[in-house]
Amino acid sequence: MFQLSLRRRGISDQAVLRTMEEVPRDLFVEETDRDAAYRDSALPIACGQTISQPFVVAYMTEQLQLQKKHRVLEIGAGSGYQAAVLSRLAGQVLTVERYRKLAEAARARLEKLGCHNVEVMLGDGLNLPANIGPFDRIIVTAAIEQLPENLVERLEVGGILIAPIGPHHGVQTLVRLSRTEAGIERKELVEVRFVPALPGVAREL
Ligand code: SAH
Repeated sequence: MFQLSLRRRGISDQAVLRTMEEVPRDLFVEETDRDAAYRDSALPIACGQTISQPFVVAYMTEQLQLQKKHRVLEIGAGSGYQAAVLSRLAGQVLTVERYRKLAEAARARLEKLGCHNVEVMLGDGLNLPANIGPFDRIIVTAAIEQLPENLVERLEVGGILIAPIGPHHGVQTLVRLSRTEAGIERKELVEVRFVPALPGVAREL
């Protein structure tokens, strides 16, 4: 049913559909929401954040056109669900989260599931140390008003970056950037709603 509903909504990449079927989303939601884990909706997680809607996870993953050799950066680990999906299709995944509590819970889940090619880092994904990267793929899973230059600079030639760009509270546009030898190509995809990307590591645990 889960795969069927994603297919109906237009996801056609077989590897993405299979991966969505394989990753147990119920392990990434709050215990009280287990029954709702396979519905196509975002759900609340700790620290006032959300786990993205399955369709959006599948759509963004499909847009990334992942290969096993790719090194991927995710900004906004949240529950770790998107990272688990990425880990099955890419080579290496670095996912950054600004809440310690979420980073630790995501790390524990990913370890338990055997996603050994994912590293969860506590930090500000919008202001990463200069020595991190470059990456073949970058996925931002929190709303940003503008794309920081220092992120685009971390994208390899041939690389794809996908991010929800728009107001923090409201509707954002999912934007895909492709870096080619000639420069950057930009394509606007669909409208989405993400929780805001905020600066710095969160003070709360
Ligand atoms: N991809 C997640 C959902 C992301 S929700 C999943 O699959 O569950 C957005 C997450 O981005 C939140 O956990 C939020 O704390 C985090 N975030 C917001 N701003 C950030 C920043 N500057 N650096 C790192 N993480 C950030």
